Amino acid sequence: MQAMVLNRLRSPLESVERPDRLPGPGEIRVKVGACGVCRTDLHVVDGELPDPHTPIIPGHDIVGRVDAIGSGVTGLQIGERVGIPWLGHTCGVCPYCLEGRENLCDHPLFTGYTRDGGFATSVIADARYAFPLGETGSDVSLAPLLCAGLIGWRSLVIAGKGKTLGLYGFGAAAHIIAQVAVWQGRSVYAFTRPGDVTGQAFAKSLGAVWASGSDEMPPEPLDAAIIFATVGDLVPLALKAVRKGGRVVCAGIHMSDIPSFPYDILWEERQLLSVANLTRQDGLDFLALAPKIGIVTTTTAYPLAQANQALSDLRAGRFEGAAVLVP
Ligand SMILES: [Zn+2]
Ligand SMILES: [Zn+2]
Repeated sequence: MQAMVLNRLRSPLESVERPDRLPGPGEIRVKVGACGVCRTDLHVVDGELPDPHTPIIPGHDIVGRVDAIGSGVTGLQIGERVGIPWLGHTCGVCPYCLEGRENLCDHPLFTGYTRDGGFATSVIADARYAFPLGETGSDVSLAPLLCAGLIGWRSLVIAGKGKTLGLYGFGAAAHIIAQVAVWQGRSVYAFTRPGDVTGQAFAKSLGAVWASGSDEMPPEPLDAAIIFATVGDLVPLALKAVRKGGRVVCAGIHMSDIPSFPYDILWEERQLLSVANLTRQDGLDFLALAPKIGIVTTTTAYPLAQANQALSDLRAGRFEGAAVLVP
């Protein structure tokens, strides 16, 4: 197998050839068809997540086909197309797992962070965390659903059922969740980097009723806002933009510090929440809904060997939608 490996934090990935491994009990080997590149991969490379692991193969929005099956695996066939998400393993016995909140498991493994991921021609996964994807849509078009889509979906559910929804940071996740929210009959207000007229036009093309810089206030108070950008300064801005009782959901795994703010922008029962990871049920719910909505992902494909270019283009905001690596 060929892989792009992070050997040292804050340094470029290195192309490495490794022997193909056979899946162990409960595991599958998946031939990667496409793997999305996500902001979290940048956090992994930059060492911004706790207890970083190296060497590691990043990548956790994986679409591929099962090409070897370990003992004890049921319900998956050789050749079947599956998605491998960020949640790579949970313990099943901690208090969070037992109460149906496996996204908060005390002993999890995460694909592309604490177990090898999909910036490779092949990946070994715990079969219980693989989602059958069916045959509709290309591997590249589906890859962003596995992370941007899933985390975005969990964030949207936690944001509640309000009609007016603000999305701060209009990248891979927001471009999917805007389509879901519009389909649900909500009004989407998109907030981009100030002056990013291309991003604002992109948001409007996906159904946003209003798009402007994140330093602007929306024309009406929002019922809820989701912050996809990793910028803590957005938290007080979003709190000011939501109505009494409104919710602000921070969707990222990492964020710069939140500046202090006056209590009165939180008062009146506004809520500030974060979203962590996903549960398998989130995946099943969202992946069943996505084809009904007819979500169209905007992608920029890169050959696997250009993973470093894809990461730096993501960092610089050089494309709309999502970057996807193709082995
Ligand atoms: Zn657990
Ligand atoms: Zn991700």
